[in-house]
Amino acid sequence: MENNEEKKLVCSHCGSTIKGDDDFCPDCGTLFAEFVKCIEHKDKEAEGVCVICCNPFCSWCGIYVNEIFLCNEHSEYEIYEGMARVYGSSDPTQIEYAKSCLEQNELHPFIYSRKRTTLHMGGTDYSMFNASGEFDGHLVNEIKLMIPFQELIRAEEILDELNILEE
Ligand SMILES: [Zn+2]
Ligand SMILES: [Zn+2]
Ligand SMILES: [Zn+2]
Repeated sequence: MENNEEKKLVCSHCGSTIKGDDDFCPDCGTLFAEFVKCIEHKDKEAEGVCVICCNPFCSWCGIYVNEIFLCNEHSEYEIYEGMARVYGSSDPTQIEYAKSCLEQNELHPFIYSRKRTTLHMGGTDYSMFNASGEFDGHLVNEIKLMIPFQELIRAEEILDELNILEE
């Protein structure tokens, strides 16, 4: 009987294991707590929690993109398997440099380099999305530096300080 009280939750939306004290799923932004209000609209019930900035938002202020809840500001990022694109370049040296800078700050960047397949959407391994549902608005040969959702804001700050980020 006591075992029922010891919460070992699984997110009903994405299936991730949740720590008992989490109010939302860090992988998809599904909100578990009740009566949470949108950070922008105090009278409106939150629909989910943005996995990037971790704030609750209502259905006007946030959107599910490929089953992951993001606020309007963060919904334009390309996302892929729990990570968001923080930087991209066709120059491998630049990417390696940016990656090492983030690693020095104890972040966990990941290089996503799509094998050169076809220009069209026929490539079967391609699964990045943004809110508009476009497949890859960026250069075809771009190497992408991905970062776990909750590290994105910090990663941008670091790259910005180093003048690595494109404007
Ligand atoms: Zn989830
Ligand atoms: Zn956000
Ligand atoms: Zn709102």
